[in-house]
Amino acid sequence: MSKKQFKAESKKLLDLMIHSIYTHREIFLRELISNASDAIDKRYYAAMQRGETGVDKSQYVIRIEPDKAARTLTVTDNGCGMSASELEQNLGTIAKSGTMAFKQEHGEAEDIDIIGKFGVGFYAAFMVAKKVTVYSHKEGEQPAVWESSGEDGYTVRPCDYEPVGTRIVLELKDDGEEESYGEFLETYRLESLIKKYSDYIRYPIMMQVERSRKKEGSDEYETVVEDKTLNSRVPLWRKNKNEITKEEYAQFYRDMFRDYEDPASTLHINTEGMLSYTALLYIPKKPPFDFNTKDYKRGLRLYANGVMIMEHCEELLPEYFNFVQGLVDSPDLSLNISREMLQHDRQLSAIANNLKKKILQELLRMQREERAAYEDFFKAFGRTLKFGVYDQFGMNKEFLKDTLLFYSRKEDKLVTLKEYVDAMPEAQKDIYYAAGDTLAQVKKLPQAERVADKGFDILCLVEDVDEFALRILESYQEKPFKSVSDPDLDLNTEEEKKEMQEKAEAAKPLLERIKTALGDKVLDVRLTDRLKNAAACLSGEEGMSVEMYKVLRQMPNGANIPMTFHLDLNPDHPVYAKLGDLDDDTLKEYAELLLAQAKLVAGLPLDDPAAFAEAVCRLM
Ligand code: ADP
Ligand code: MG
Repeated sequence: MSKKQFKAESKKLLDLMIHSIYTHREIFLRELISNASDAIDKRYYAAMQRGETGVDKSQYVIRIEPDKAARTLTVTDNGCGMSASELEQNLGTIAKSGTMAFKQEHGEAEDIDIIGKFGVGFYAAFMVAKKVTVYSHKEGEQPAVWESSGEDGYTVRPCDYEPVGTRIVLELKDDGEEESYGEFLETYRLESLIKKYSDYIRYPIMMQVERSRKKEGSDEYETVVEDKTLNSRVPLWRKNKNEITKEEYAQFYRDMFRDYEDPASTLHINTEGMLSYTALLYIPKKPPFDFNTKDYKRGLRLYANGVMIMEHCEELLPEYFNFVQGLVDSPDLSLNISREMLQHDRQLSAIANNLKKKILQELLRMQREERAAYEDFFKAFGRTLKFGVYDQFGMNKEFLKDTLLFYSRKEDKLVTLKEYVDAMPEAQKDIYYAAGDTLAQVKKLPQAERVADKGFDILCLVEDVDEFALRILESYQEKPFKSVSDPDLDLNTEEEKKEMQEKAEAAKPLLERIKTALGDKVLDVRLTDRLKNAAACLSGEEGMSVEMYKVLRQMPNGANIPMTFHLDLNPDHPVYAKLGDLDDDTLKEYAELLLAQAKLVAGLPLDDPAAFAEAVCRLM
């Protein structure tokens, strides 16, 4: 039987496990038990899906068997089992969720301490075993056995393992001078490990233990061997809130949702009465590695009276809170409820409605009481919230608006909309914003100068969704949002306005000549009073900023959106004063230079960069 090699990425993690001098290697047992529990869940769920009522839950069990003579530790479950090809697929690669994230975040894994905090999965077995043998039998498939001594690869072949489920035999490493593996053959040690890591596993974890008892009718003692259930099987969320420590909440989160960091916030909700349910919700600190891919599954785990019926119930979480992890357990739900039924379930939508309010409250509490943590959270997930404001024609904008933070040009930090409005001077009527690719670019945006000179703050928008979110919000506390690119910013006094009108009137023939020179490269050429030091800038239709066009271009069918803009000139700029005296050819050259400059400042590519460079040199 020829050996197959582990995939390169798996090998790395495997090496790390085999050579780990890691003191928390005891977590291997937790990993194997949680896999066993998952496997039983799958078998139970599949039976329900097939409509097999009366599936006897009590038959499911996870068994631990230490054998000192053989120096093996065996973990057996009667879960779904694996076929030969599944053994190959699941244990030969680490394309699996948790382990993959580990690999991505810690490619070189200098920080081995992370392992203790994180579900590293099946390969953890190699921290304590020199050889691992996995017998497995999936219903309706030929049983098979997977075997590996680590680095030199693995084999998969048929076998005659009869019971449905999986049996994993670990041949423990030899005890060294400094390290003992024999401890994992001691029943008291195994018992305490299971209490520590796997107490809430819902299926009984059984082991044969010795107990001494009084002989019947005599004073003598005898030793008996009997089966003992090692876990209390009470899920964490069913325990009393004040009996749960912060660390227990965090550990549960890390195990269940495969994060190696503690959550930013934990919500444990118990409701009774009309609607009775328990929810345990977590707000993560960072997005999981697949958060922005289509592989990411949002939703909460759904339990009916302690039995998981769905892993990702989307109906429980609105899309704008898709970063929330957690579970809901309700005694009133039917076990074999189908996905279609869920969508129309009144009970479920009432729970979802309560939860979203609780989540909002918690976010706003963090914002008030733990500002730094909230800002970190917002850096990780703010985009999702802003998208929530914009999405569905702004249906949720009122609900979400106070969660938003934007960068304040004046304060040089993130502010809420309320903080912005509270700090507005009397004379300021609008909430100003400026959009660009980077903060540095936005701060230097020529259009922003005059607004800033008035002493007004400007929200700096750097994410694609920002401007769309503000446009759909329209206003906050009746103060309209206004882009600094908007042609009628209305910053001027009556006198200044009149002066501007006169200038515009006088400029008409010149603007007409420039427009003719530029042809269809611009929508129009106009004067603007928005600029101070810059000679020219660009603006879209109806005050839409160039940034919005850039975003629209990226959208499906966006390629058709023309990137042609108004060229707005600053009449107070010395260059402008020169334009009137130029002959047609020179005017054309200057106009093209001004247009090119405005494009560069707006972060747009030039049509003909070489021509631009030549023109600049000619001038120099
Ligand atoms: P994860 O549990 O994060 O998926 P693991 O490395 O722990 O990753 O396990 C890899 C895969 O191997 C599991 O997803 C599962 O499909 C399979 N597996 C592991 N142990 C068992 C088991 N006892 N019964 C059935 N399948 C198992
Ligand atoms: Mg696992």
